[in-house]
Parts: sequence; C-alpha cells; structure tokens
Amino acid sequence: MNDLKTSVFANQFSHIYVEKGVMEHPRTAQVLRRFSNSTVVECSSYKDIFCRSHQEPSTQRQSRSLILAQGNAAIYPGAKVCQSMGNEHFYYTSCVMNCIYDCEYCYLQGMYRSAHMVMFVDLSETFRELDKLLAIHPVYLCISYDTDLLAIEPLTGYLAEWCEYLATRPNCTVEVRTKCASAKTILSLPKLSNMIFAFTLSPQEVISRYEHSTPSLKLRLEAVDKTVSDERKVRLCFDPMLALSDFETVYRAFFNEVFETVSGEDLFDVSVGVFRISKDYLKNMREARECSITYYPYTLTNGVYHYDEETEQRLFSIARDELSKHLPSDKIFFWTEC
Ligand code: SF4
Repeated sequence: MNDLKTSVFANQFSHIYVEKGVMEHPRTAQVLRRFSNSTVVECSSYKDIFCRSHQEPSTQRQSRSLILAQGNAAIYPGAKVCQSMGNEHFYYTSCVMNCIYDCEYCYLQGMYRSAHMVMFVDLSETFRELDKLLAIHPVYLCISYDTDLLAIEPLTGYLAEWCEYLATRPNCTVEVRTKCASAKTILSLPKLSNMIFAFTLSPQEVISRYEHSTPSLKLRLEAVDKTVSDERKVRLCFDPMLALSDFETVYRAFFNEVFETVSGEDLFDVSVGVFRISKDYLKNMREARECSITYYPYTLTNGVYHYDEETEQRLFSIARDELSKHLPSDKIFFWTEC
C-alpha cells in the first residue's frame, strides 16, 4: 500500500463515489487519504452506480471505481455451495462487494453485474445484528467471502475493527479467507483464538492462468509459514480444485510442495472443494467472460453446475491421498453436497 503504483491498486479507483451520509465517516477519510489523486464524486446511494443497467464488467475491471457506502447489516445463513466446517450455526457477512483480485472462476462475476468495488464503511450495525444472534447461540461467521479483506486491510482497517469486536465475543468465531500473502498485516493484528486465517492455495499453474493479480504460491506459503509460527489459527483451503488436462500430476506435485513448507501439525484444519457454481451465476459468468472455466461442459444437479462424478471423485481422491499423509481425517473437510 505504500506504493500504490506497484500494488494491486495500480490503475484502480480513478473515481471514488461517496454516499452523502458517509462523507464525514473516519473510514471514508482514511480511504480518500490513500487516493488523493482520485476524483471524488458524491452520490445518494451506491446502487445508483453499482446497480446501473448495461454495465460491462470486463471493461470496468481495467479501471474500477470505488464506492463508499453506509453499513450493511445483513448476516446471511451460509450458502449450500459453501463449507460449514462442521459448525452448526454458520453465517457469512460482507462489508465489501467485489474483490481487488480477478480470478476467472470467481462466483462474484455471476453475482454482481458490475466490477466496481463497494465498501460499507460503518460496521456498527453489523455488530449489533451479530450480538442479537450471539445472545441465542454461538456463531461461526465467514467475513471474507465476497472480497479479500486481508488484501485491502492496509487501506480499510476492517480486520482491526473486527478484532476489537471479537476480543470480547469468545462465542463468535470468524474465518478470514484470503489469497493475500501479507503476513506483516496479519502479525500487526491482535492475536485472537477466535479468528481463523484461511489461506486459499492453488498450484502455480492455476494461479498463473486463472488467479490474476494474486500472489504466487511461493509467497502465499511464506505467509502461511509466518502466520503459523506466530501461533495463529491457520486453515488451508484447496478450493476450488480444477480439472486441468493434467490435474493428477499438477495436484500431486502441488500438495508435495505445500507440505515441504508447512507442517500438518501446525494447521487448525484444511478444506477441499472442487469447482462448482450455481446455475444462475454461471449464466451471468458466461456473459461476462468467455474462458475454459465458464464454458466447461459441467453436469447440473439441484441447480448447481459441477464436474462429472468420475472427475470429482478423482480430484477428491488425490486430495484425500495426499492430505491424509499430513493430517488426521477429522481435520480434513470435503465439500461434497450438490
Ligand atoms: S480472491 Fe476470491 S473473492 Fe477475490 S476474485 Fe479470487 S475467488 Fe473471487
């Protein structure tokens, strides 16, 4: 973040739209300070820009705008395409819509018809809603599904604010899913037993081809190593595994490489999933981007597109073989439901 020209923010946010109601919010000031050369435009609602009809996300992605908006209180029950990791009360929430990275398989392209990013600057309403749930039962909450919060933490300070909240809510466990490789940012946060850093790892072949702007596997593994060394809870997510033409060779070599750096004993757990996507999202993704991911001949089951049974089982079997060398079975979670 120190050098915006060379960071993932390069060429981004030449225009920043700010809802009138949050013009004076401290997080708005923090963000605007970082982008002092951007044109700031006041708006009445983020929807005027984000939900406009006839947008072209592929063009917008070259130079996205940022929209700063009032808080979003919604806490949603976990979707069926997501993993609960054995947690009974599984929810997710989004204080940011869209991601600074650009993965070709990302469901956000199917969910939103805009590539601009929206940041809901005020978390207080979200915390109030969460407190109501916590009064009833413990909560397992994923806060970094519809974006990568760690990648934008130096800009936003969201995770620091979540840490402050979580420090006094031991019955709330939060997962921060990320492809970011900044251990420095993680180590700058308070150490909490109810915050899990969930690093998504992919073979370098997948990163180079499909996960645009994301850190390399080597850098992600270094970040994992530093995070476990600091005795933080770390989850590794091998999700989505992709049916590349030579996936057996690629994924076996990949798992070897991962466990040359990381010891299974140091991990909180791991999750495994193969690519799957809801029917409606894939339809939108095909309109937004023509690529080998969107036009693969998937099988449709209960409204979810996925690989055929044999391919799925071969992918899962590679993961099971390789992971069971390093972790007990009760620490390995597979996404299998369709
Ligand atoms: S890092 Fe995750 S949220 Fe961001 S573009 Fe990639 S898949 Fe989507």
